[in-house]
Amino acid sequence: MTTSSLETTAKALNETLEGLDLAGRLALVASLEGQAVFTTSLGIEDQVITAAIGENKLSINVATLETGRLFNETVALIEKTEETYGILIKRYHPEQADIDAYAARYGLNGFYESVEARHACCDVRKLKPLARALQGVTFWVTGLRRGQSGNRASTPFAEADAERGLIKINPLADWDIETIRAYVAANAVPVNPLHARGYPSIGCEPCTRAIKPGEPERAGRWWWENDEKRECGLHVPEAAASSIIPNSSSAA
Ligand code: SF4
Repeated sequence: MTTSSLETTAKALNETLEGLDLAGRLALVASLEGQAVFTTSLGIEDQVITAAIGENKLSINVATLETGRLFNETVALIEKTEETYGILIKRYHPEQADIDAYAARYGLNGFYESVEARHACCDVRKLKPLARALQGVTFWVTGLRRGQSGNRASTPFAEADAERGLIKINPLADWDIETIRAYVAANAVPVNPLHARGYPSIGCEPCTRAIKPGEPERAGRWWWENDEKRECGLHVPEAAASSIIPNSSSAA
């Protein structure tokens, strides 16, 4: 699709999705022409989407970025979720050659030293595998919510991602965390035990800490960086990510 047809389709979808419930939103996406993929981090929002896909047997592929630095609890949850819903969660791994090149340049844990080094690691372990997961995909389903951070406050239900040439679908955009928790409880959705230990947002183990009472949900992600809008680049266009990261020459 051209950029203008992506934008036209996304605008129409955005209006339609707003009037539907979660199952309806996902069923609509599954019914559209073009491949749909949901990328899950196994976080609580993503578990709700996986549950809705699995229980309704929707033709939306489920994939995850197995970065090699995930918490053991997250890795265990991948298998548990597959068993619970009888689905396959396709793992996308980083290339060993890229990891070796990163380690030679920055050190394996060089991401603590600079924003540039951190984004370079996310590029190798997340962005490149994500690009493979999204090859040939028309609709990319995510668990983004407006309440997760100020950076995500205006998340629409559907948006054109011209850089990747697809339409991003955010079926939980208007859900708050209480609604998410109520869905999980009512439907016995398996969730990461780390949530109960103060981790509302869970990424790679070395880059995630528990938050303190009153802190924003994503405060535990890359906590040593100062910028409130820190992201890994999955959901922020490269140019925009670069512009919100002070002193960064790379937003990859
Ligand atoms: S979150 Fe941390 S360990 Fe994971 S890819 Fe990004 S910098 Fe690397």
